[in-house]
Amino acid sequence: MTLTNPRGTQDILPADMMYWHHIEATSRTIFNMYHYEEIRTPIFELSELFERGLGNETDIVSKEMYTFMDKGNRSLTLRPEGTASIVRAAIQHPQLTKHNQAKLYYCGPMFRYERPQAGRYRQFHQIGIENIGNAHPFTDAEVISLGLHLFDELGLPGLSVSINSVGCPVCRPVIQERLKQFIVNNLQHLCGDCNRRFDQNPLRILDCKNDKCRTYFTGLPDIHKSLCHDCKDHFNSVVEYLDSLGVPFEIDPKLVRGLDYYTKTTFEIVSDKLGAQNAICGGGRYDNLIKKMGGKSTPAVGFAFGVERAVMVLKEFSEIINRQDPLIFVAPIGFNQQTRCFRLMNELRRAGLKCEMDYSKEDLKSQLKTADKMEARFCLIFGEEEAEKNEIILKDLLERKQDSYPIENIVDILADKILKR
Ligand code: ATP
Ligand code: MG
Repeated sequence: MTLTNPRGTQDILPADMMYWHHIEATSRTIFNMYHYEEIRTPIFELSELFERGLGNETDIVSKEMYTFMDKGNRSLTLRPEGTASIVRAAIQHPQLTKHNQAKLYYCGPMFRYERPQAGRYRQFHQIGIENIGNAHPFTDAEVISLGLHLFDELGLPGLSVSINSVGCPVCRPVIQERLKQFIVNNLQHLCGDCNRRFDQNPLRILDCKNDKCRTYFTGLPDIHKSLCHDCKDHFNSVVEYLDSLGVPFEIDPKLVRGLDYYTKTTFEIVSDKLGAQNAICGGGRYDNLIKKMGGKSTPAVGFAFGVERAVMVLKEFSEIINRQDPLIFVAPIGFNQQTRCFRLMNELRRAGLKCEMDYSKEDLKSQLKTADKMEARFCLIFGEEEAEKNEIILKDLLERKQDSYPIENIVDILADKILKR
């Protein structure tokens, strides 16, 4: 039996790589403008990090983690998200926060044991930022507008931003209580998850994706009326600053997000070009997480976006030009000319030019066929006649014309044509 990749994982093949490179390169450029620096943390961590950081009641920790014992009997988990690891690193390496703030970004694979479907995988990739140390609502507005700036730059169409505030330990209990009073009469109509959450973490009921449950959420008490002064002021400021930046958004009082660590601002960016899995980016403020993880009380805000979902939209709706370097195919006619051509390839590559040769062929026709299959732009033809005159034929496969040149000049000629364009 032939082996295939595990369920929920994907091979990202060369034909798609331009989208990945485009997303990664653009992200780095934009993050750099906003003065973020890259951090790379391990792909697995002690399981306790996620249990403590994300909360045992979250879907991620209770159902979706890839956890295993290593040979030293440690419980390890493949990271399901980036924030917990970055918070750990920020506490562990005080030099990261020596200016009382750390602005970090990351990029890499995440692992969640979910039911695979379009836009939902067991290994997927996130790119995200964490702004640690800033309590000012400018930061929330800046992080959201950075996300939109990045997606504009990527060329993702059809996006909309929703924001909300989930309060803080002062007002959250009030919000939860009001919600419970509202929900309690319909509890028997809600799903098992909702019933469980009713006792453990009622706010998360609003995150239920079940359509039937959602019909019972209309007419919900306004979450914003229950916010404490501090949270209300903060939220109003974020709204004001987003307006002042011209960022389009809507307030969604049901937006609570799947993680327990959020305080105050939560936000999500969705695309109308995706089906059921329409969220591209999620984020929010987490002012209590760093203290909870054993660090000094430090405010923070961040987001993460799903690269696969961004690729899906780009593939269908954008016209990224595949800016591959043109390929030069080197074609010796007859085995006697091969060694000279082999050396020429080395010279071309040292000069920064991309080239290829088929070592198994000696007749021109079949080599030109290969060049065609490889979508080569140029072909260099070197037969006995050329060898005698110290020349080489340069065939432009696109413009369909050819000329002979002294072989010792050909590298410079091609470098002029290709690199100086
Ligand atoms: P969803 O509601 O789609 O499950 P989430 O709330 O679990 O998303 P986050 O944990 O906030 O998502 O992660 C941020 C982004 O990462 C999501 O908006 C999405 O683009 C992407 N993402 C999350 N889980 C997956 C997955 N299993 N496969 C692919 N992308 C994912
Ligand atoms: Mg999820």
